[in-house]
Amino acid sequence: MSTAVSPQSPETLAVGTDARPLRVAVIGSGPAGVYAADILTKSEEVKNGLVVAIDLFDRYPAPYGLIRYGVAPDHPRIKGIVNALHKVLDRGDIRFFGNVDYGTDLTLEDLQAHYDAVIFATGAIKDADLNIPGIELDGSYGGADFVSWYDGHPDVPREWPLEAKEIAVLGNGNVALDVARVLSKHAEDLLVTEIPENVYEGLKKSPVTDVHIFGRRGPAQVKFTPLELRELSHSKDVDIVLYPEDFEFDEASDEAIKTNNQIKTMVGTLTNWLVDQDDDAEPASRRLHLHFLHNPVEITGDDGKVTGITFERNELDGTGNARGTGEFVDYPVQAVYRSVGYFGSALPDVEFDHRRGVVTNDGGRVLGADGTHVPGLYATGWIKRGPVGLIGHTKGDALETITNLLEDRVNLPAASVPGTDKVVELLDSRGVEFTSWEGWLELDAHEKALGAAASAAGPVQRERVKVVPREDMVSVSRGSAAAVVGR
Ligand code: NAP
Repeated sequence: MSTAVSPQSPETLAVGTDARPLRVAVIGSGPAGVYAADILTKSEEVKNGLVVAIDLFDRYPAPYGLIRYGVAPDHPRIKGIVNALHKVLDRGDIRFFGNVDYGTDLTLEDLQAHYDAVIFATGAIKDADLNIPGIELDGSYGGADFVSWYDGHPDVPREWPLEAKEIAVLGNGNVALDVARVLSKHAEDLLVTEIPENVYEGLKKSPVTDVHIFGRRGPAQVKFTPLELRELSHSKDVDIVLYPEDFEFDEASDEAIKTNNQIKTMVGTLTNWLVDQDDDAEPASRRLHLHFLHNPVEITGDDGKVTGITFERNELDGTGNARGTGEFVDYPVQAVYRSVGYFGSALPDVEFDHRRGVVTNDGGRVLGADGTHVPGLYATGWIKRGPVGLIGHTKGDALETITNLLEDRVNLPAASVPGTDKVVELLDSRGVEFTSWEGWLELDAHEKALGAAASAAGPVQRERVKVVPREDMVSVSRGSAAAVVGR
């Protein structure tokens, strides 16, 4: 869509003034998007008089992206980041539009017509592939999909099949730890968190006794972080089990232990757990096994369902990498969760690097098929650099992207549609049931009220109970809810 601009129109005014602010759309309201918006509003240029108008769009009715739909519910410390993001959005100088899907509700052409710059901050929520035979069997799942389920993501089924007694979790990253911890914890111990009712009910019925985490390299090559690893031992009535034959250290491992404090701490934690194992102690009803040097080669099944998994035993090659030994070992399991990394999803009308799962970009400047910058398009966060690093690392990313955007500022292709309200009219005209910041405050209060009601009805104090169905989130946010309960 394009709209003609008359010579007297505010669109002919210098961009970045009160009469004609620099208009920026950010797609994605997770940490990456909020940090980018915040950094832009606090930039030197803005302090020196540049006027910006920022709209933050999200495909979900609620803000916060991966914090709401990727962080484990028993990680309230990380959830604390929500408070910081809340403060930014509550200032009132950044507009929030939830339940707006980029590509369908608003196209790139729409955004280019209404904004001088567009920043993609859509993150990565899908599981990376693991191409081994049997991965398609019933009972073989993506860890990220399970995370979405227990975090009450509106677009995943409400039921999760938790029928396995023995479970394999593949990968030695923090997501594998989250998945294995939630699978092995007793549901009652998660009731203090904000888990939705269907998640509590599902976990309560789980017959699980043994969860096995498998890494393909050694204890000095884990991608966990120390705090998250130590936390495994805090689950009630869950024993941690380790195997001496997995404790192999090559030259590179020794060097890593000597020079990297995180690795040193984690190897220390694992070794202590190994030597402290007490065969005479009262056994817990559930076990969490940590295996190293196991390379998954095939998921085996019967009648289309997972019945086991085969690994080739690995050995370290001196450089910290692993190679196969030719020895194979089978484990009977009825479910396999792969947590071998996230992968970004391609976005309509934007070049995508399918190998790395990122929007093709140079320092956050989105590149076209010819390798040159598409004027006005930027990317930040996991969709820019890939799904690695902790939430705080996204700040550095956002700073680089915003610095480049501001450097390009005078050459940005100015939006052709005048005024900041036209995009609202466009969404209304298309019948898009977008949610607002005020709407989020309503939903936030509603979820806390559900938590208070659940606390009053039961023995456990609950701060919040998440609303899951999209239509309920939208109706509460838009003030049209009759009586939405925690379903
Ligand atoms: P990750 O840290 O990159 O870990 C991926 C794991 O999968 C690695 O152990 C990797 O082993 C393994 N892997 C990859 N391909 C494999 C294959 N073909 N077969 C077997 N194993 C394979 O990814 P993540 O766990 O998804 O986490 C993503 C980011 O989010 C990380 O930065 C993480 O710290 C962060 N995060 C943090 C928290 C928290 O609580 N602080 C929670 C969740 C996520 P190799 O090392 O051998 O490649």
